[in-house]
Amino acid sequence: MTDSTAQCDVLVVGGGNAALCAAITARRAGASVLILETATKDFRGGNSRHTRDIRYMHRAATEFVTHAYGEEEFWHDLLGVTGGATDERLARLTIRESETLADWMAGNGVRWQKTLRGTLHLARSNLFMLGGGKAMINAYYHIAVQSGVEIRYETEVQELEIGGSEFVSALAARNGECERIRSKAIVLAAGGFEANIPWLKEYWGEAAENFIIRGTPNNQGRMLKELLRHGVKPVGDPRGCHAVALDARAPKFDGGIVTRLDSVPFGIVVNREGKRFYDEGEDFWPKRYAIWGKLIAEQPQQIAYSIIDSKALPHFMPSVFPPVEAASIPELATALAIEPRALGAVVDEFNRSVNGGGRFNPGALDDCRTRALEPPKSHWARPIEAPPFYGYPLRAGITFTYLGVTVDERAQVIMGDERPAKNIFAAGEMMAGNILGKGYLAGFGLTIGSVFGRIAGREAARCAGF
Ligand SMILES: Cc1cc2nc3c(=O)[nH]c(=O)nc-3n(C[C@H](O)[C@H](O)[C@H](O)COP(=O)(O)OP(=O)(O)OC[C@H]3O[C@@H](n4cnc5c(N)ncnc54)[C@H](O)[C@@H]3O)c2cc1C
Repeated sequence: MTDSTAQCDVLVVGGGNAALCAAITARRAGASVLILETATKDFRGGNSRHTRDIRYMHRAATEFVTHAYGEEEFWHDLLGVTGGATDERLARLTIRESETLADWMAGNGVRWQKTLRGTLHLARSNLFMLGGGKAMINAYYHIAVQSGVEIRYETEVQELEIGGSEFVSALAARNGECERIRSKAIVLAAGGFEANIPWLKEYWGEAAENFIIRGTPNNQGRMLKELLRHGVKPVGDPRGCHAVALDARAPKFDGGIVTRLDSVPFGIVVNREGKRFYDEGEDFWPKRYAIWGKLIAEQPQQIAYSIIDSKALPHFMPSVFPPVEAASIPELATALAIEPRALGAVVDEFNRSVNGGGRFNPGALDDCRTRALEPPKSHWARPIEAPPFYGYPLRAGITFTYLGVTVDERAQVIMGDERPAKNIFAAGEMMAGNILGKGYLAGFGLTIGSVFGRIAGREAARCAGF
């Protein structure tokens, strides 16, 4: 092991959005900054490189957003999804500070594009990055390097030495070599623990083996575990995670956005026994897509199947994999390895319950619904009868976990005795649970990471004497 002293003023652990916002800000304040990122240079950027859009407060429409989106509406939306599981002080701080993000991001090389059509109805509240999160991350790395931030890839921080509530040093591994690194302050921006299957199994049991992780395999939660081991106060439900319906053929890690499936509201979903288990048309898909991961996780062997007919195809964005196609329902069942008689019976029963009903309108909560069917389908219910028939296998796709560390308005980590740690700051998914205790608002992960990344960078630099 090598021991280097006073390696830098501010050490940043992680290489995603929150880490880069912190590093750039701390460097601009005058501090020397070192970023340690587990990933290789090609795969740098954590889950942030899979993103597309960011939610922000703004007072008027622009070329890229259709209407104003003020503090109260933003706050109301947040209350709606969290059901009050949020720290209002930190939430309002995030919302207010988000107003400066469009300019800050553009000033650091991010370009915008017009809102994508056919996506999650975000035209008024969210800005879309041209080239997505990958382009944003590349722009930030470019700025960081230009301004003198040192970056070490393929370097995983394994342990933190913390005395009382003061960070002393970090033990980092690279190519089998360990190095102890000291700094005056540390910013932890190392994401959640969603890629750590054994840890997920502590809350989900064996079912977690069948989860697919949408983002980086590097978010193992090692830094989270270290902070909790040192007595930092946790926040958020350990079992809580954002999970969507994903194409079951997606890779185990890092499949990104293109493996999500949005076909659910336009057909039925059955488990491997051929049984329906939830109202596929309960509400607009943007309000429901994030509950389907959990619903699938609760099914036998954590698998389900979205079944549609040819008239449903134009109404949703397909996944990157083509659907399984068949001329009849029994053939489709065989191709998907569902019991053919069970699938035939459930489709017949469903079709009988919707015959004669309503005027189909995918843009509204229409009156196409089932009658006397359990569970019901409340909207967009049309008979599945127009061949060819299609099926997509579905798995629970984990986006991120909610467990994190408690912070204050300065992004300073709070110890179990309620006092702030002296020189330890956290940003991004590691502390998002303070603000987003439950549910999700599209584009808000980046908002929290950007706002608290900048605050953590500023405060860590200040703590280091700048
Ligand atoms: C497919 C997908 C699409 C998404 N789309 C959006 C979207 O459009 N808008 C939005 O707001 N949010 C979106 N999210 C959520 C968003 O990605 C996160 O909220 C946000 O990127 C978190 O940023 P972060 O910096 O905290 O973590 P990350 O970007 O995940 O970065 C964590 C970093 O820490 C590194 N790391 C972990 N452990 C260590 C260690 N021990 N030592 C060194 N480095 C370590 C990892 O390599 C990684 O680089 C999406 C997520 C996914 C998976």
